[in-house]
Order: sequence, then structure tokens, then C-alpha cells
Amino acid sequence: MVATSTDAGQPGTAQTGTAQIGVTGLAVMGRNLARNFARHGFTVAVHNRSWSKTESLVADHGDEGTFVASESMADFVASLERPRKVVVMVKAGAPTDAVIDELVPLLEEGDIVVDAGNAHFPDTIRREAALREHGLHFVGSGVSGGEEGALLGPSIMPGGTAEAYASLGPILEEIAAKVDGVPCCTYVGPDGAGHFVKMVHNGIEYADMQLIAEAYDLLRHGLGASAPEIGEVFATWNSGDLESFLIEITADVLAHTDAGTGRPFVDVVADRAEQKGTGRWTVQSGLDLGVPITGIAEATFARALSGSVPQRTAAAGTLPAHTQPWAVEDRDAFVEDVRLALYASKVVAYSQGFDQIAAASELYGWGIDRGAMARIWRGGCIIRARFLNRITEAYERDPQLPLLLADPYFTDAVSNGVAAWRRVVAAAATHGVPTPAFSSSLAYYDGVRAERLPAALIQAQRDFFGAHTYQRTDREGTFHTEWSGDRTEQPA
Ligand code: NAP
Repeated sequence: MVATSTDAGQPGTAQTGTAQIGVTGLAVMGRNLARNFARHGFTVAVHNRSWSKTESLVADHGDEGTFVASESMADFVASLERPRKVVVMVKAGAPTDAVIDELVPLLEEGDIVVDAGNAHFPDTIRREAALREHGLHFVGSGVSGGEEGALLGPSIMPGGTAEAYASLGPILEEIAAKVDGVPCCTYVGPDGAGHFVKMVHNGIEYADMQLIAEAYDLLRHGLGASAPEIGEVFATWNSGDLESFLIEITADVLAHTDAGTGRPFVDVVADRAEQKGTGRWTVQSGLDLGVPITGIAEATFARALSGSVPQRTAAAGTLPAHTQPWAVEDRDAFVEDVRLALYASKVVAYSQGFDQIAAASELYGWGIDRGAMARIWRGGCIIRARFLNRITEAYERDPQLPLLLADPYFTDAVSNGVAAWRRVVAAAATHGVPTPAFSSSLAYYDGVRAERLPAALIQAQRDFFGAHTYQRTDREGTFHTEWSGDRTEQPA
């Protein structure tokens, strides 16, 4: 059913104040979110800067529920019941600010503006503070799952005030993906918390994809296997601990034949991975927070390397490898080694991502429940996976868990694969197969479990050239050695 306040009929015929939720920005994501709300029985106000998208939404899908279509922002706002709930689903950045600026004068105290686009969390913090000045709630909400998720049930990560969540949350939980009947949506925390968690989710997605790509490359080089043969390996892996959306689609992609050439599809795709920027934001934030998210960083840099065309052109066929041909003797054992190494590296990437969430939560006072984040990522989103249940359980056992890897379940799970992980990384290095994420994850594992690190030498060097001081293992205090003098030690 469609009510309209546009020139499609008689302006002003839409019933005022009847829509329970509104969506402005009706490109792929907004259109599908609006349909999702309507299909769940909500009366949805819809608006887009250019009328054609609104028109086509109601023409194509008006029978899916009750839409109230408006051509002007003023009519759109007027069509909403109070407190108004407006979901903004437009291009991130300046367009989001433009839409908010247009909305604010039309809204009243207590109304809720939801930015469901991929905003950078500092922008969300800024916008939340600005709208609070107007007595409005601003909810920066991560939405994962792409266009299909938006329509059929995304994972939703809303920030903002608990008060806003009290009236908005039930609607979002209704349209979110469900796993075992539990919605993949929960209150994340104040101001930028929702978009921060969505950013880390995307960073983990980068790491997960890179690890899968490295596993594929190892099987290709080690076994000399074809893409469809490797696809079968991934299909098998999808019935075990690695079961996830990304493993499942990898099996599908590897089995796909290019219609034009008859070759495996993956063999005709240019090997340059692109990015929209959320991986970069995650790495920048990791650096700011001082949290080693090496899996995400290596995955982001691996995409950058793949796109470094002049450098790759200069190096390919020129830089010597000094390797021997690789012929794996026990194929089944090698496949199992790669599976174990993939699982262990994946646990490291998630462990690091959850450390990053904990650090930001502490810094900004967000109070994020990490177990709940793993729970709402179980469905609807790109990184949905069986083992997220294990992460939730780990944080339920100990909400203050300092390191996911140190939870007994994960310690055991990774421990079972450590020898295999070392064999795989060593073989990759010996045979010249680049595995930045596998290798750096193992290096992180060895670094974090080391009883003593060479950081002691770095501290000594820093004191030598810059009098940066150091602490000792045998007594309290801060010290400096007179390196250029008599080398006596002074309390600093
Ligand atoms: P998009 O291509 O990012 O943006 C297009 C929409 O933004 C159109 O509705 C467009 O209106 C509107 N827009 C652009 N500039 C505007 C301005 N200055 N004032 C008002 N409206 C403006 O759309 P999308 O792919 O559906 O994504 C929407 C948001 O969701 C983005 O923030 C995106 O990052 C995020 N997101 C996307 C995905 C995905 O899989 N695509 C997944 C998760 C999150 P007109 O029709 O008038 O041009």
C-alpha cells in the first residue's frame, strides 16, 4: 500500500504522523532496508533526494507493505509518528552531513536520527554531540550484510543513547538477522561505539578474506591443484570448525567456470584487490590505540601490494627467488596442516580485533560487551561463522578476558594446530609463497606468549641515543645510564 505526498497525485495526501519509521536515501541499501521494515509490518516513510528512486521503490515493491512516499524532506518528516525515527542511508561523508543539516530544523526534541551508512566513527562522535545540542538523539549504526542482508536481515550495530535504543531497538531487532531465534542486533554503546564496532568488523573481514586467499594460494602451489579441486577442499572445510559464509562462498567461487573462456573464473580475474577504506580506518585506529592488529594490517597492505602495479612490474621475473620446485608428498597431511594454520591465524585476527574494541571502549568509556558483539555477528553479516559462538562463550566465562587466545577453549584449539602452523609458514617461506597474514599471525602468537622479548634491547638503545630512560626487572623505578660518560646508572 502506498500513500503519497508528491506530485504523483495530490501533494499532501499522505497521512500525517502515521509512519513508524522513515528511510531517506533509497539506493541499494536504503531501498532494501525500507522494504525489510515494510515486510515486517511497519509503516515506512520513504524519501530520496531525487524522486525517481522513491517512485521506483513504491512502483516495484509497494505491495510488500505500507510505504508513505514523500518528495520533500518536510513532508517526509511530517509523515512520521513521534518520537520520529529517521534512518539516513546515503553516501558516507559530506552527503550524510548535508542530509542531517536538512533534517535537523524539521525535527523536534526527542526525535531520533539514525545514520546507517558506513560513517567513520569520529564523524559519528561529532554528529552525536551536535544533535544532542538540539535535543535530538543521533544513533550511528553499523549495518552489515550488503544489499541482501539489508533486505533479508542484516547484522545491526547501533550506538547512541540507551534511551534512543529503548524505542528504536525493538524495530531494528525485528528486521535484523536471527540465529537460534536471537536477533543479530543489540545496543553497542554511546556515540561512536556502533560505527567503531562496524569498522573493526570490516577490518576482521579483510583479515579473514586474506587468510582464505593465502590458504588457497598454498594449496595451489603446494599441491599443484586446480581452482575447482581447491574449491572441493573448501567445501569440506565448511562442515567443520571453519564453517562460515566466507569459506562457503570461496568454495562456490573456485568451482565457477568463466563462460567466455571455459577457464576457472578465478584464473581470469585481475589479481588486484580493491578497498573502500574501512580496512585502512581500522589499521589507523589500531595504530592510534597502540593495539597490534597485525592480521588486519597485513591484509590491508596485501591489498595495497596487489595494486602496486609499477612495483610488481619491476619485480616480477626480475627479483630472484632462490627456491626449489614444491612437490608435497603427503597431500592429505598438507591440506590438514593448511586448515589448522588457517584456523589458528583466524583466531589471532579475531583476538586482535576484540582487543581493539576493548581498548577503544576503555578510552571512550563505551562499555562494550564483546561477547554480545560476537553474538550479533553470527548472522546477517559477511563474517558470520560458527566459531563466533565460541567467542561469545569465552567472554561470558570472563567478561574482562584480557586475551581471547588465553581463553581455555581457544588456547586448546590453537595449540592443536601450532606445529602445523609452523610447518606451513616455514614451507611458504622456503618455497617463496607470500603468506603475510599467516606468517604475521604466527609471529604475533609467538610474541604475545614470549616470556621475554627483545624489546629490552630497544629500550636500552632508546636510552643510549635519546636518554629516554628504562625500567629494570629487578627493582622499581625509572633509570638512565650515562652512556657518553662513565656509564653509571642514575635514577631518572
Ligand atoms: P550510495 O551509493 O553510497 O549512496 C547513494 C545514495 O546517497 C542515493 O540515495 C543518493 O541520492 C544519496 N546522496 C548522495 N549524495 C547526497 C546528497 N548530497 N544529499 C542527499 N542524498 C545524497 O548508496 P548505498 O550503496 O545504498 O549505500 C548507502 C550507505 O550504506 C553508504 O554509507 C554505504 O557506505 C553504506 N553501506 C553500503 C553497503 C553496500 O553493500 N552497498 C553495505 C553496508 C553499508 P540520489 O539518488 O539523489 O543521488
